[in-house]
Amino acid sequence: MLLSYLKALEIDVWLPRDRPRVGSESPAGVEPISAASDADLRSAGSGRGWAELEAAVRDCNLCPLHATRTQAVFGVGDRTAQWMVIGEAPGMEEDRKGEPFVGRAGQLLNAMLKSVGLAREQVFIANILKSRPPNNRDPRPEEVRACLPYLQRQIELVNPRLILCVGRIAAQTLLQSSEPIGKLRGAVHRIFSDRPMVVTYHPAYLLRSPAEKRKAWADLTLALRTFRRLGGEIAS
Ligand code: URA
Repeated sequence: MLLSYLKALEIDVWLPRDRPRVGSESPAGVEPISAASDADLRSAGSGRGWAELEAAVRDCNLCPLHATRTQAVFGVGDRTAQWMVIGEAPGMEEDRKGEPFVGRAGQLLNAMLKSVGLAREQVFIANILKSRPPNNRDPRPEEVRACLPYLQRQIELVNPRLILCVGRIAAQTLLQSSEPIGKLRGAVHRIFSDRPMVVTYHPAYLLRSPAEKRKAWADLTLALRTFRRLGGEIAS
């Protein structure tokens, strides 16, 4: 099955003999590297059910981005999913449609999920920020601080077995790290009360740098191995 998915990701299926191993796990297996501290987070999402949380996000004005967004982008997918995908923030198309990861990057994300046997509908997809930053600039610390409790509550409600974090900004934010993404991928991190998280490249970056898709594939296989080791099974 995998060959066709690799083709869909436009990854060549030949491998040079001397390629370095990437995405390898720490010898101890699932090992914490760092964690976002719950104490740092405000409680905007705390205790809310789905409907209440969705309404709070829709009406949120805790940061200035509410004034420039078309609409808040809450998240999409199976609310009981075993995998949760976390990105950075809505872009122009997401802001317009109200759904994360639409457009070309979204299509590549769907192909990446497919490569490990997951349909988009089988995962829950959300972003760190629920509102689009103007001109797609990086999120500001005060915006992240205001928005992160919503994501934290989404994670609690979905209760995924595994989190796949896409992109440098999302990874650095969730891990409270300034390390480059190249150093954050290739290991299993623990965030928010010990939830396993694997980091990979953002699909928008992979569209610009297709040579990195091979590393993304290594990340996805690490995520899949971790998921299986934790007792997860992907329904076909
Ligand atoms: N990039 C993201 O990180 N999230 C989206 O929803 C779209 C693009």
